[in-house]
Amino acid sequence: MAEQIQARRTFGIISHPDAGKTTLTEKLLLFGGAIQIAGAVKSNKIKKTTTSDFMEIERQRGISVATSVMAFEYRDILINLLDTPGHQDFAEDTFRTLTAVDSAVVVIDVAKGVETQTEKLVEVCRMRDTPMMVFINKLDREGKDAFDLLDEVEGKLKLKVTPLSWPIGMGSRFQGVYNLYEQKLNLFKPHHKQGEDETIIIDDIKSKELEKHIGESAAKELRDELETVTTVYPKFDVKKYLDGSISPVFFGSAVNNFGVKELLDCFVEISPQPMPRMTEERVVVPEEKKFTGFVFKIHANIDPRHRDRIAFVRVVSGVFERNKSYHLVRQDKNLKFSNPYSFMAAKKEVVDEAYPGDIVGLYDSGNFKIGDTITEGEDLHFKGIPSFSPEQFRYILNTNPLKTKQLNKGIEQLMDEGVAQLFIKEDSGRKIIGTVGALQFEVIQYRLEHEYGASCSYEPLPLHKALWFKCDDTAALNEFIQRRKKDIAQDKDGKYVLLAESPWTLRMVQESHPKIEFRYKSEE
Ligand code: GDP
Repeated sequence: MAEQIQARRTFGIISHPDAGKTTLTEKLLLFGGAIQIAGAVKSNKIKKTTTSDFMEIERQRGISVATSVMAFEYRDILINLLDTPGHQDFAEDTFRTLTAVDSAVVVIDVAKGVETQTEKLVEVCRMRDTPMMVFINKLDREGKDAFDLLDEVEGKLKLKVTPLSWPIGMGSRFQGVYNLYEQKLNLFKPHHKQGEDETIIIDDIKSKELEKHIGESAAKELRDELETVTTVYPKFDVKKYLDGSISPVFFGSAVNNFGVKELLDCFVEISPQPMPRMTEERVVVPEEKKFTGFVFKIHANIDPRHRDRIAFVRVVSGVFERNKSYHLVRQDKNLKFSNPYSFMAAKKEVVDEAYPGDIVGLYDSGNFKIGDTITEGEDLHFKGIPSFSPEQFRYILNTNPLKTKQLNKGIEQLMDEGVAQLFIKEDSGRKIIGTVGALQFEVIQYRLEHEYGASCSYEPLPLHKALWFKCDDTAALNEFIQRRKKDIAQDKDGKYVLLAESPWTLRMVQESHPKIEFRYKSEE
């Protein structure tokens, strides 16, 4: 068991669309031998094509089941790479996937620098102290100065960094990187294949060897820059990386498969093995004999005639076994799974057992909800899968009274899947759908019609945010809820939220109710 745990790594790649996540994923899978040919990894990007957005989403849903988890082996380590949708309207989905990883790789485009989507996702990782590595991509193109980029990473992403490789020129002058971790010079050849890297060991950067390979002026520049690097940035410390307080940085070019092997070699060496996790009741450590796990993603079948879904479960402790009965805590139900899936080599395969760090896909007829805990009987509730305040809100209206039942069922199931969030107004009982992007409203309407035979329309509701709140003083809390009833709703778990119309109204409410604590997410 200990051996199985030590040999596993579960991580995700986060980036802004177009920074190179799909390309990097593919190169990593090639190293792991999980795929043989370039171009095999389909991008799950929502492309702006002539087809309407939600049709594109339907198509992408098919692809993203296959790419949800990509498992591969490298240097005797079993690596589970969890896919994170890049489209900002699916940010919520990505936030939740990040709760199931033990570490992350952040990909940044050298020319564009830190972009908004990356900022948001890194913030989610930082909240949980997830160890992060940074890969600066597209060095074969002109981009920002390396020092300026690292300043940007520190400033915008609030990460302390230390470079473990350093670029020699960029764009047309790009000659390669100096690997500070292993003290090697790695020369760049466009489109070089794996195993063909030209690496030269140069222990002493002052050695004249350097000039021989990269020329006088580049050698001088590299020496000067490395001197600045060693004085400005802290020495790399694995412990600090593991507790999330320092992030090593690599430079490379994914499409040319350059710098990817260095990243992967360092990754298998230092990245964390499956970690303990908090429940409301106690800490669960991976080595525990009994199985525990949680649902972080639910995928509905694209074929509307089969209402089954796949629930993605992250194994936290013990061994998950096929055909054994497990306890779904929220429903107080026992369930057996005869066809659990694993995702080796980006293929679905039935598995007999899964270990901590693994993801199993379970067929589900509607029992699961995101955040559910499964155990061998103990009543545990995994923490850390919060809901975040949506960005957009609309009232949902039933436009076919004969299909009310179907509509309610559909809404309930889509919310369990985490497509959007439902809030019920305290004063009127009206239903509000909250989403991160406008796309989900279309998705919901389309799926309600096609999968449930129900129809709905929306009424605009211009709100700023939904805020969860608490207060130790029960009397003050009740008074607040009574007084603000028209701005209060309940979320899917019956927790209260304040619906704030604007930052200004929020400030007003805070000032007049100083005892109430507000937050933008459902968990602390
Ligand atoms: P994603 O949206 O983050 O998954 O990005 P992709 O992997 O799809 O890459 C976006 C575009 O950047 C594609 O056209 C890639 O070929 C290109 N790209 C990826 N890596 C590099 C690189 O190292 N250099 C250059 N010049 N282009 C790259």
